[in-house]
Amino acid sequence: MKKHFVFLSFTLVCAVTASRAQSPTPPAEQMTVIRAGTLIDGSNASPRKNQLIFIRGNRIEKLTEPTTQIPANATVIDLSSATVLPGLIDSHTHIFLWGEDPAKGGYDENILKAGIALRAARATFACRRALEQGFTTIRDLETEGAGYGDIEIKQAIEEGTIPGPRIFGATRAISTTGGYNLEGYAPELEMPKGAQLVDGPVEARKAARQQLEHGADWIKVYMTHRSWVDKQGNLVSQPTLTVEELKAIVDETHGWQKKVACHAYNGIGLQRALDGGCDSIEHGLEITDAQIAQMAKQGTWYCPTISPYYGDWAPADTPGGKRDRARAATHEVSFKKALNAHLKIVFGTDIGGMPWTDSMAQEFKRMVGLGMAPMDAIQSATSRAAEMLDMKGEIGVLAPGAFADIVAVSGDPLKDVTILEHVRFVMKDGAIFKNDLAK
Ligand SMILES: [Zn+2]
Repeated sequence: MKKHFVFLSFTLVCAVTASRAQSPTPPAEQMTVIRAGTLIDGSNASPRKNQLIFIRGNRIEKLTEPTTQIPANATVIDLSSATVLPGLIDSHTHIFLWGEDPAKGGYDENILKAGIALRAARATFACRRALEQGFTTIRDLETEGAGYGDIEIKQAIEEGTIPGPRIFGATRAISTTGGYNLEGYAPELEMPKGAQLVDGPVEARKAARQQLEHGADWIKVYMTHRSWVDKQGNLVSQPTLTVEELKAIVDETHGWQKKVACHAYNGIGLQRALDGGCDSIEHGLEITDAQIAQMAKQGTWYCPTISPYYGDWAPADTPGGKRDRARAATHEVSFKKALNAHLKIVFGTDIGGMPWTDSMAQEFKRMVGLGMAPMDAIQSATSRAAEMLDMKGEIGVLAPGAFADIVAVSGDPLKDVTILEHVRFVMKDGAIFKNDLAK
């Protein structure tokens, strides 16, 4: 035991030393002051004009009026002609997906032909992309066959080896037999799967334990899989885990003080997700009034991920085309119901399902286009998401004590939310990653 302890201590010391040597995080005594022309703090309903943000090391120390004396040794960053916001949070990403083009083999190609080093290199690119677009935190909802790669990429970011956002990783995800790709191959072949497949509450609990043991910050569960349009024109989704299986996962995960995100489109699978005690519903394309009421009562988070359902529709007269149109049409209705019921909504893009070269912030115009106020959309990507991640007051807000994750845009995103697609200044953890506003 003792020997192990000594070894562990030694590796810890090494890790800390390495992190100090490579991390861009500024030393605790360094003072930086940002002059913010307009400040949206991520929490308050209205913006403020001409504020000074005092940053000591990697944390915000105070926000003050512009007349406050600035210490002579402070570095001053002039963003007085910009709108300054908290670093953005995308609550649904996949750094290990590549927006697989169906014409090039799609999802299966990514699993069957891309080796783990290629996938890690692409995930590294994805993390840089997220950060340069102002997303300083992501909840990455499963690695699609890349095992625990998200936790390892997170380690590389935390030790300063590669740039990237703060990551809350879900590792492998859980579904059932018949409940995830790869599919459609000869039955005698043992194909790799994009998620960990389980049958029965015992296996379900074991999978959650394995994933939590290996560092999962969240557990991701697929509660629906295939979807199609039935003879009556209704969207139907195949359910996967039973309530008993999900309850075993939720019980285990909550015991570790972590949460469960449930991919659920509609129908039986969505109902089981709610009855099983899911913490967040992902996508939720078709939510009935009774389910909206149940989500409100249980305090379930809703991460709608609208953008991916508006691109790449199959031709209208094909089964796939009918499904694609039915998904978007019903999704709009559900989102508006959720808004009216004041459900707890977080911003999520499902980027990775779309190419990482796409804009992540495009989701803002989808949310606002369906009736969400721009300030609410911003808060869904800042303070609300922080609350879901149990990081309230630490990220998603510009306030004393919070990490100095700060972005800026030119113009007023409350008038034109698409301005957030052009983030010009990014600071993460007190270190400037990008500044296109420097004079
Ligand atoms: Zn997803």
